[in-house]
Amino acid sequence: MAATILDGIKIRDEIQSELLQQIAELKRVGVTPGLAAVLVGENPASQIYVRSKVKTCEALGLYSEKMERPKESTTEELLQLVNDLNHNDAIDGILIQLPLPPQVDTKRVLTAVDPAKDVDGFHPMNVGNLVAGRTGFVPCTPAGILEILKRSKIPLKGTRAVVVGRSDIVGKPVAMLLLHEHATVTICHSRTRDLPAVAREADILVAAIGKAAFVTADFIKPGATVIDVGINRLTTEEEVHKIFHDPAGPLATLEKRGAVLVGDVQPEDARAIAGAFTPVPGGVGPLTIVMLMANTIKAAQLRRGIKSSG
Ligand code: NDP
Repeated sequence: MAATILDGIKIRDEIQSELLQQIAELKRVGVTPGLAAVLVGENPASQIYVRSKVKTCEALGLYSEKMERPKESTTEELLQLVNDLNHNDAIDGILIQLPLPPQVDTKRVLTAVDPAKDVDGFHPMNVGNLVAGRTGFVPCTPAGILEILKRSKIPLKGTRAVVVGRSDIVGKPVAMLLLHEHATVTICHSRTRDLPAVAREADILVAAIGKAAFVTADFIKPGATVIDVGINRLTTEEEVHKIFHDPAGPLATLEKRGAVLVGDVQPEDARAIAGAFTPVPGGVGPLTIVMLMANTIKAAQLRRGIKSSG
């Protein structure tokens, strides 16, 4: 039987309509949650991400400010900007779009963000809160993955979960969230021995690697839930042929759009073997921005001692 597709767009829409209610409640008491997005330099992917974050704020009726700074910006200049935003009462959430240029001390800049406005959940205080299971901000992509699993009623308690990837942004926090849900969690990385065998133990397999279609049939236990976090662009016919067993559809997409998006999981294998999986595009991706909105609303509520109805 073909795997169930976990539709990230549908789940995103569901969450968005819940957020709209919370925003309306906040507006009734005179509060409009505000997000500042800091974009340094001209990285095209970062520009696209920031644009869609600002657009989503506008669509939901949140206040947003896009702070663009030149690629020559120094650590000191960015620390000053963060300090100003920390003290700006119209701003509830501060988002520093990564990567920052190489001359900037990224850790110092992220640590300068007021933890109460740290809607990306990158500040060490929020990392600590996550580990300790205390109220704080959870990074958006891992939070979105949990929403997909819970809203799709995928059982987590007592399951074996394997996370491939140990980044601070995805791998580690998603592993921690799964642990809090009482899964037995293994975190894998580039030095893991016999990765396919470890991955095949998983009832829940999360791939956050950054390598197109790296997870193939031999990684997937039949019936497992596979969460594909990767976003990779294929731009040549050769790449498409190398990855897809049946390349006709992707080749047509390549011709039409100039690129094919593929995750870290081979999608045909996931469809054939998994019990459920998140497609790319349309799986985890749509959740990331809506969870940023959710964190911004939560920041606005927490800063003012307003209890969430959501
Ligand atoms: P990073 O590059 O920070 O981390 C990648 C991880 O994968 C590392 O821990 C690395 O191991 C591991 N890895 C690399 N090669 C192998 C290998 N051959 N075998 C086993 N493990 C390996 O990436 P991110 O976590 O930031 O992102 C992962 C993917 O998710 C990317 O494709 C990114 O674009 C995507 N992404 C998608 C988002 C969304 O909204 N959908 C949001 C954020 C990311 P080691 O630590 O040993 O080097």
